[in-house]
Amino acid sequence: MVVGRTGRQSRTTAVEWEIGGLVPKVLVAGGGIAGIACASVLQAGGIAVRVRDRGRVIGGRMASRWVDGRIVDSGASYFTVTSPQFAEVVADWTTRGVARAWTRRMAVLRGSDGALVLGEPGPIRYTAPGGLRSLVADLASRTGVPVTQAAPIARITPGPRVDGERVDAAVLAMPDPQAVRHLDDALTAERAMVVDRPWLPALTLLAGWKHRCWAPFDGAFVHEDDTLTWIADDGRRRGDQAPVLVAHSTADYARPRLADPIAAGPGLLVAVRRLLAIDEPPQWFRVQRWSFARPEQCHDRSFFLSDNDIGLAGDGWGTQSKIENAWLSGTRLGHAIIDRLS
Ligand SMILES: Cc1cc2nc3c(=O)[nH]c(=O)nc-3n(C[C@H](O)[C@H](O)[C@H](O)COP(=O)(O)OP(=O)(O)OC[C@H]3O[C@@H](n4cnc5c(N)ncnc54)[C@H](O)[C@@H]3O)c2cc1C
Repeated sequence: MVVGRTGRQSRTTAVEWEIGGLVPKVLVAGGGIAGIACASVLQAGGIAVRVRDRGRVIGGRMASRWVDGRIVDSGASYFTVTSPQFAEVVADWTTRGVARAWTRRMAVLRGSDGALVLGEPGPIRYTAPGGLRSLVADLASRTGVPVTQAAPIARITPGPRVDGERVDAAVLAMPDPQAVRHLDDALTAERAMVVDRPWLPALTLLAGWKHRCWAPFDGAFVHEDDTLTWIADDGRRRGDQAPVLVAHSTADYARPRLADPIAAGPGLLVAVRRLLAIDEPPQWFRVQRWSFARPEQCHDRSFFLSDNDIGLAGDGWGTQSKIENAWLSGTRLGHAIIDRLS
Protein backbone atom coordinates (compact mmCIF):
# COMPACT_ATOMS: atom_id res chain seq x y z
CA MET A 1 0.00 0.00 0.00
CA VAL A 2 1.50 3.30 -1.05
CA VAL A 3 0.46 6.81 -0.19
CA GLY A 4 0.46 8.71 -3.46
CA ARG A 5 1.61 12.05 -2.19
CA THR A 6 4.65 13.77 -3.52
CA GLY A 7 7.62 13.96 -1.24
CA ARG A 8 6.20 11.55 1.32
CA GLN A 9 7.35 8.09 2.16
CA SER A 10 5.30 5.10 1.09
CA ARG A 11 3.05 3.62 3.73
CA THR A 12 4.28 0.47 5.45
CA THR A 13 3.36 -2.69 3.61
CA ALA A 14 1.90 -6.01 4.75
CA VAL A 15 1.53 -4.93 8.33
CA GLU A 16 0.16 -7.62 10.60
CA TRP A 17 -0.78 -5.56 13.64
CA GLU A 18 -3.50 -6.57 16.06
CA ILE A 19 -6.35 -6.59 13.56
CA GLY A 20 -4.03 -7.86 10.79
CA GLY A 21 -4.22 -7.29 7.08
CA LEU A 22 -3.13 -4.38 4.97
CA VAL A 23 -4.35 -1.56 7.14
CA PRO A 24 -2.52 1.57 8.23
CA LYS A 25 -1.00 1.35 11.66
CA VAL A 26 -0.70 4.12 14.19
CA LEU A 27 1.19 4.16 17.45
CA VAL A 28 -0.16 6.44 20.16
CA ALA A 29 2.27 7.28 22.95
CA GLY A 30 0.39 8.36 26.06
CA GLY A 31 -2.58 6.70 27.73
CA GLY A 32 -4.15 9.79 29.23
CA ILE A 33 -7.61 10.79 28.06
CA ALA A 34 -6.23 12.53 24.94
CA GLY A 35 -4.28 9.48 23.77
CA ILE A 36 -7.13 7.07 24.48
CA ALA A 37 -9.67 9.36 22.76
CA CYS A 38 -7.42 9.59 19.71
CA ALA A 39 -6.85 5.82 19.61
CA SER A 40 -10.59 5.18 19.99
CA VAL A 41 -11.38 7.27 16.93
CA LEU A 42 -8.66 5.52 14.94
CA GLN A 43 -9.83 2.09 16.04
CA ALA A 44 -13.41 2.91 15.05
CA GLY A 45 -12.10 4.19 11.71
CA GLY A 46 -10.54 0.82 10.86
CA ILE A 47 -6.95 1.81 11.59
CA ALA A 48 -4.72 -0.65 13.44
CA VAL A 49 -3.83 1.30 16.54
CA ARG A 50 -1.80 0.62 19.63
CA VAL A 51 -1.35 2.74 22.73
CA ARG A 52 1.83 2.62 24.77
CA ASP A 53 1.91 4.29 28.18
CA ARG A 54 4.88 4.56 30.46
CA GLY A 55 2.78 4.21 33.63
CA ARG A 56 1.74 1.01 35.40
CA VAL A 57 -1.84 2.12 34.73
CA ILE A 58 -3.38 4.41 32.15
CA GLY A 59 -5.16 7.66 33.00
CA GLY A 60 -2.25 10.09 33.24
CA ARG A 61 -3.23 13.15 35.24
CA MET A 62 -6.74 11.75 35.73
CA ALA A 63 -5.07 9.85 38.54
CA SER A 64 -6.70 7.88 41.32
CA ARG A 65 -4.89 6.10 44.16
CA TRP A 66 -5.97 3.45 46.63
CA VAL A 67 -5.37 4.87 50.09
CA ASP A 68 -6.75 3.55 53.36
CA GLY A 69 -9.09 1.13 51.59
CA ARG A 70 -10.69 3.52 49.12
CA ILE A 71 -10.03 5.43 45.91
CA VAL A 72 -8.84 9.04 46.13
CA ASP A 73 -8.47 11.35 43.11
CA SER A 74 -4.91 12.64 43.26
CA GLY A 75 -4.77 14.56 39.97
CA ALA A 76 -7.72 16.21 38.24
CA SER A 77 -10.60 16.95 40.63
CA TYR A 78 -13.64 16.96 38.38
CA PHE A 79 -14.66 17.80 34.84
CA THR A 80 -17.15 20.08 33.15
CA VAL A 81 -18.91 19.70 29.80
CA THR A 82 -19.59 22.31 27.14
CA SER A 83 -19.20 20.63 23.74
CA PRO A 84 -21.99 18.43 22.34
CA GLN A 85 -19.49 15.72 21.33
CA PHE A 86 -18.08 15.34 24.84
CA ALA A 87 -21.60 15.61 26.27
CA GLU A 88 -22.49 12.40 24.40
CA VAL A 89 -19.60 10.56 26.03
CA VAL A 90 -20.51 11.92 29.45
CA ALA A 91 -24.18 11.01 29.00
CA ASP A 92 -23.10 7.42 28.34
CA TRP A 93 -20.87 7.46 31.45
CA THR A 94 -23.59 8.85 33.69
CA THR A 95 -26.24 6.47 32.31
CA ARG A 96 -24.00 3.54 33.17
CA GLY A 97 -23.08 5.08 36.53
CA VAL A 98 -19.34 5.29 35.88
CA ALA A 99 -19.53 9.10 36.16
CA ARG A 100 -21.90 11.20 38.22
CA ALA A 101 -22.87 14.83 38.61
CA TRP A 102 -21.13 16.01 41.80
CA THR A 103 -22.02 19.63 42.42
CA ARG A 104 -22.76 23.00 40.85
CA ARG A 105 -21.64 24.91 43.87
CA MET A 106 -18.01 25.52 44.77
CA ALA A 107 -16.76 27.66 47.62
CA VAL A 108 -14.01 30.25 47.83
CA LEU A 109 -11.56 30.19 50.71
CA ARG A 110 -9.65 33.39 51.35
CA GLY A 111 -6.11 32.67 52.50
CA SER A 112 -5.77 36.09 54.10
CA ASP A 113 -8.50 35.58 56.72
CA GLY A 114 -9.68 31.95 56.23
CA ALA A 115 -13.21 33.03 55.23
CA LEU A 116 -15.14 30.20 53.49
CA VAL A 117 -17.76 31.66 51.15
CA LEU A 118 -20.15 29.51 49.12
CA GLY A 119 -20.21 30.65 45.49
CA GLU A 120 -23.18 31.04 43.16
CA PRO A 121 -24.27 27.87 41.33
CA GLY A 122 -22.08 27.29 38.26
CA PRO A 123 -21.72 24.51 35.68
CA ILE A 124 -22.21 20.92 36.80
CA ARG A 125 -18.93 19.42 38.00
CA TYR A 126 -18.77 15.70 37.24
CA THR A 127 -16.78 13.08 39.05
CA ALA A 128 -16.50 9.29 39.04
CA PRO A 129 -17.41 6.87 41.84
CA GLY A 130 -14.43 4.70 40.84
CA GLY A 131 -12.07 7.67 40.53
CA LEU A 132 -11.49 9.76 37.40
CA ARG A 133 -8.89 7.28 36.14
CA SER A 134 -11.68 4.71 35.76
CA LEU A 135 -13.20 6.85 32.99
CA VAL A 136 -10.07 6.59 30.86
CA ALA A 137 -9.95 2.85 31.47
CA ASP A 138 -13.65 2.64 30.56
CA LEU A 139 -13.09 4.52 27.30
CA ALA A 140 -10.24 2.19 26.36
CA SER A 141 -12.10 -0.99 27.18
CA ARG A 142 -15.41 0.07 25.56
CA THR A 143 -13.64 0.83 22.30
CA GLY A 144 -11.29 -2.16 22.55
CA VAL A 145 -8.15 -0.14 22.04
CA PRO A 146 -5.06 -2.28 22.71
CA VAL A 147 -2.95 -0.67 25.41
CA THR A 148 0.48 -1.68 26.64
CA GLN A 149 1.31 -0.33 30.09
CA ALA A 150 4.76 0.24 31.58
CA ALA A 151 5.93 0.65 27.97
CA PRO A 152 7.48 4.09 27.53
CA ILE A 153 8.47 5.09 24.04
CA ALA A 154 11.97 6.49 23.70
CA ARG A 155 12.47 8.00 20.25
CA ILE A 156 10.42 9.07 17.27
CA THR A 157 12.46 9.46 14.11
CA PRO A 158 11.47 10.40 10.56
CA GLY A 159 9.46 7.69 8.79
CA PRO A 160 7.79 7.94 11.20
CA ARG A 161 9.50 5.28 13.28
CA VAL A 162 8.86 4.72 16.95
CA ASP A 163 11.86 3.12 18.59
CA GLY A 164 12.88 1.87 15.17
CA GLU A 165 9.48 0.44 14.20
CA ARG A 166 7.91 1.91 11.09
CA VAL A 167 4.30 3.11 11.48
CA ASP A 168 1.97 5.11 9.26
CA ALA A 169 1.50 7.77 11.89
CA ALA A 170 2.73 8.36 15.42
CA VAL A 171 1.02 10.38 18.13
CA LEU A 172 2.52 11.99 21.20
CA ALA A 173 -0.35 12.68 23.63
CA MET A 174 1.45 14.13 26.62
CA PRO A 175 2.66 17.49 28.00
CA ASP A 176 5.03 19.40 25.69
CA PRO A 177 8.11 19.08 27.95
CA GLN A 178 7.65 15.30 27.89
CA ALA A 179 6.92 15.15 24.13
CA VAL A 180 10.02 17.12 23.18
CA ARG A 181 12.28 14.51 24.83
CA HIS A 182 11.18 11.89 22.31
CA LEU A 183 11.40 13.85 19.07
CA ASP A 184 14.53 13.32 17.00
CA ASP A 185 16.50 16.46 16.10
CA ALA A 186 15.61 15.90 12.42
CA LEU A 187 11.92 16.48 13.24
CA THR A 188 12.28 20.23 13.25
CA ALA A 189 8.62 21.19 12.63
CA GLU A 190 7.40 18.96 15.47
CA ARG A 191 10.13 20.08 17.86
CA ALA A 192 9.38 23.73 17.12
CA MET A 193 5.84 23.17 18.41
CA VAL A 194 6.84 21.81 21.79
CA VAL A 195 10.27 23.17 22.60
CA ASP A 196 10.50 25.96 25.19
CA ARG A 197 6.86 25.61 26.24
CA PRO A 198 6.94 25.94 30.02
CA TRP A 199 4.52 23.93 32.16
CA LEU A 200 3.70 24.59 35.78
CA PRO A 201 4.19 22.05 38.58
CA ALA A 202 1.90 21.24 41.51
CA LEU A 203 1.96 19.08 44.62
CA THR A 204 -1.16 17.31 45.80
CA LEU A 205 -1.83 16.49 49.45
CA LEU A 206 -4.20 13.60 50.26
CA ALA A 207 -5.11 13.37 53.94
CA GLY A 208 -7.59 11.35 55.99
CA TRP A 209 -9.08 12.11 59.43
CA LYS A 210 -10.93 9.99 61.97
CA HIS A 211 -14.09 12.01 61.38
CA ARG A 212 -15.22 15.19 59.60
CA CYS A 213 -13.92 18.19 61.54
CA TRP A 214 -14.43 21.06 59.09
CA ALA A 215 -17.34 23.20 57.89
CA PRO A 216 -19.28 21.51 55.04
CA PHE A 217 -18.23 22.29 51.47
CA ASP A 218 -17.67 20.25 48.27
CA GLY A 219 -14.66 21.99 46.82
CA ALA A 220 -13.05 25.36 47.46
CA PHE A 221 -10.90 27.56 45.25
CA VAL A 222 -8.28 29.08 47.53
CA HIS A 223 -7.53 32.74 46.87
CA GLU A 224 -4.77 34.95 48.29
CA ASP A 225 -2.68 32.05 49.58
CA ASP A 226 1.00 31.25 48.91
CA THR A 227 0.64 27.49 49.46
CA LEU A 228 -2.70 26.23 48.14
CA THR A 229 -5.01 26.84 45.19
CA TRP A 230 -7.77 24.27 45.80
CA ILE A 231 -9.19 21.89 48.41
CA ALA A 232 -11.76 19.14 47.70
CA ASP A 233 -13.76 17.10 50.15
CA ASP A 234 -13.08 13.69 48.60
CA GLY A 235 -15.79 11.94 50.65
CA ARG A 236 -18.48 14.24 49.27
CA ARG A 237 -16.94 14.01 45.82
CA ARG A 238 -16.92 10.21 45.90
CA GLY A 239 -20.28 10.01 47.65
CA ASP A 240 -19.10 7.79 50.52
CA GLN A 241 -18.64 10.70 52.99
CA ALA A 242 -15.17 9.49 54.01
CA PRO A 243 -13.34 12.24 55.99
CA VAL A 244 -10.68 12.77 53.32
CA LEU A 245 -9.42 16.04 51.88
CA VAL A 246 -7.33 16.60 48.73
CA ALA A 247 -5.45 19.89 48.29
CA HIS A 248 -3.43 21.22 45.34
CA SER A 249 -0.48 23.55 45.83
CA THR A 250 0.47 26.68 43.97
CA ALA A 251 3.20 26.28 41.34
CA ASP A 252 5.51 28.52 43.39
CA TYR A 253 5.13 26.29 46.44
CA ALA A 254 5.75 23.14 44.39
CA ARG A 255 8.73 24.30 42.30
CA PRO A 256 11.50 24.17 44.94
CA ARG A 257 10.03 21.02 46.54
CA LEU A 258 9.72 18.71 43.52
CA ALA A 259 12.88 16.76 44.38
CA ASP A 260 11.48 15.69 47.76
CA PRO A 261 7.66 15.90 47.67
CA ILE A 262 7.17 13.88 50.88
CA ALA A 263 9.06 16.55 52.79
CA ALA A 264 6.48 19.07 51.56
CA GLY A 265 3.66 17.16 53.28
CA PRO A 266 3.79 18.87 56.69
CA GLY A 267 3.79 22.35 55.10
CA LEU A 268 0.77 21.48 52.92
CA LEU A 269 -0.99 20.03 55.93
CA VAL A 270 -0.40 23.15 58.01
CA ALA A 271 -1.98 25.20 55.22
CA VAL A 272 -5.06 22.94 54.97
CA ARG A 273 -5.59 22.97 58.75
CA ARG A 274 -5.10 26.74 58.93
CA LEU A 275 -7.54 27.43 56.07
CA LEU A 276 -10.26 25.08 57.34
CA ALA A 277 -9.62 25.66 61.07
CA ILE A 278 -9.01 21.96 61.71
CA ASP A 279 -7.65 21.30 65.23
CA GLU A 280 -6.94 17.60 64.86
CA PRO A 281 -4.03 16.05 63.00
CA PRO A 282 -4.96 13.58 60.22
CA GLN A 283 -4.56 9.83 60.61
CA TRP A 284 -2.58 9.60 57.39
CA PHE A 285 -1.37 11.73 54.52
CA ARG A 286 0.32 11.27 51.12
CA VAL A 287 1.86 13.70 48.66
CA GLN A 288 1.77 13.37 44.88
CA ARG A 289 4.13 15.29 42.62
CA TRP A 290 3.04 16.77 39.29
CA SER A 291 6.11 18.11 37.50
CA PHE A 292 3.92 19.11 34.56
CA ALA A 293 0.47 19.86 35.97
CA ARG A 294 -0.66 22.41 33.38
CA PRO A 295 0.80 24.57 30.61
CA GLU A 296 1.73 28.14 31.32
CA GLN A 297 -0.04 28.88 28.05
CA CYS A 298 -2.06 26.64 25.72
CA HIS A 299 -1.44 26.31 21.98
CA ASP A 300 -3.97 28.26 19.94
CA ARG A 301 -5.06 25.15 18.00
CA SER A 302 -6.50 21.89 19.23
CA PHE A 303 -3.80 19.55 17.81
CA PHE A 304 -0.88 19.41 15.40
CA LEU A 305 -0.39 16.89 12.59
CA SER A 306 2.89 17.34 10.77
CA ASP A 307 3.81 16.53 7.18
CA ASN A 308 5.82 13.64 8.67
CA ASP A 309 2.55 12.11 9.98
CA ILE A 310 3.42 12.82 13.58
CA GLY A 311 0.58 14.11 15.72
CA LEU A 312 0.67 16.10 18.93
CA ALA A 313 -2.34 16.31 21.24
CA GLY A 314 -3.38 16.79 24.84
CA ASP A 315 -4.76 19.40 27.17
CA GLY A 316 -2.03 21.85 26.18
CA TRP A 317 -3.75 22.10 22.81
CA GLY A 318 -6.87 24.29 22.73
CA THR A 319 -8.42 26.96 24.83
CA GLN A 320 -7.84 25.69 28.34
CA SER A 321 -5.98 22.88 30.08
CA LYS A 322 -8.80 20.62 31.20
CA ILE A 323 -10.19 17.14 30.72
CA GLU A 324 -12.79 18.07 28.14
CA ASN A 325 -10.23 19.82 25.96
CA ALA A 326 -7.78 16.93 26.22
CA TRP A 327 -10.54 14.60 25.00
CA LEU A 328 -11.45 17.01 22.17
CA SER A 329 -7.81 17.39 21.17
CA GLY A 330 -7.25 13.64 20.94
CA THR A 331 -10.56 13.08 19.17
CA ARG A 332 -9.91 15.76 16.56
CA LEU A 333 -6.39 14.50 15.92
CA GLY A 334 -7.79 10.99 15.44
CA HIS A 335 -10.17 12.23 12.74
CA ALA A 336 -7.40 14.24 11.07
CA ILE A 337 -5.19 11.15 10.93
CA ILE A 338 -7.99 9.11 9.36
CA ASP A 339 -8.46 11.81 6.72
CA ARG A 340 -4.72 11.88 6.12
CA LEU A 341 -4.33 8.13 5.77
CA SER A 342 -7.47 7.56 3.70
C1 LIG B 1 -3.24 18.65 40.10
C2 LIG B 1 -4.12 18.71 38.88
C3 LIG B 1 -5.43 19.13 38.99
C4 LIG B 1 -6.25 19.16 37.85
N1 LIG B 1 -7.56 19.52 38.00
C5 LIG B 1 -8.39 19.44 36.92
C6 LIG B 1 -9.79 19.64 37.08
O1 LIG B 1 -10.29 19.81 38.19
N2 LIG B 1 -10.57 19.60 35.95
C7 LIG B 1 -10.06 19.35 34.70
O2 LIG B 1 -10.82 19.32 33.73
N3 LIG B 1 -8.73 19.14 34.54
C8 LIG B 1 -7.90 19.16 35.61
N4 LIG B 1 -6.56 18.90 35.47
C9 LIG B 1 -6.05 18.72 34.10
C10 LIG B 1 -6.37 17.32 33.55
O3 LIG B 1 -5.87 16.35 34.42
C11 LIG B 1 -5.73 17.21 32.18
O4 LIG B 1 -6.26 18.21 31.36
C12 LIG B 1 -5.93 15.88 31.47
O5 LIG B 1 -5.92 14.79 32.35
C13 LIG B 1 -4.82 15.78 30.43
O6 LIG B 1 -4.92 14.57 29.71
P1 LIG B 1 -3.82 14.25 28.61
O7 LIG B 1 -4.18 12.94 28.04
O8 LIG B 1 -3.67 15.41 27.71
O9 LIG B 1 -2.42 14.16 29.40
P2 LIG B 1 -1.97 13.20 30.57
O10 LIG B 1 -3.12 12.83 31.42
O11 LIG B 1 -0.81 13.86 31.23
O12 LIG B 1 -1.49 11.88 29.82
C14 LIG B 1 -0.20 11.76 29.26
C15 LIG B 1 0.20 10.30 29.33
O13 LIG B 1 1.43 10.14 28.64
C16 LIG B 1 2.17 9.15 29.30
N5 LIG B 1 3.56 9.24 28.91
C17 LIG B 1 4.45 10.21 29.25
N6 LIG B 1 5.66 9.91 28.68
C18 LIG B 1 5.49 8.78 27.98
C19 LIG B 1 6.35 7.96 27.17
N7 LIG B 1 7.64 8.26 26.98
N8 LIG B 1 5.84 6.86 26.57
C20 LIG B 1 4.54 6.51 26.75
N9 LIG B 1 3.69 7.22 27.51
C21 LIG B 1 4.16 8.34 28.12
C22 LIG B 1 1.90 9.41 30.77
O14 LIG B 1 2.16 8.24 31.55
C23 LIG B 1 0.42 9.78 30.74
O15 LIG B 1 -0.41 8.67 30.99
C24 LIG B 1 -5.72 18.82 36.58
C25 LIG B 1 -4.39 18.39 36.48
C26 LIG B 1 -3.60 18.32 37.62
C27 LIG B 1 -2.19 17.80 37.49
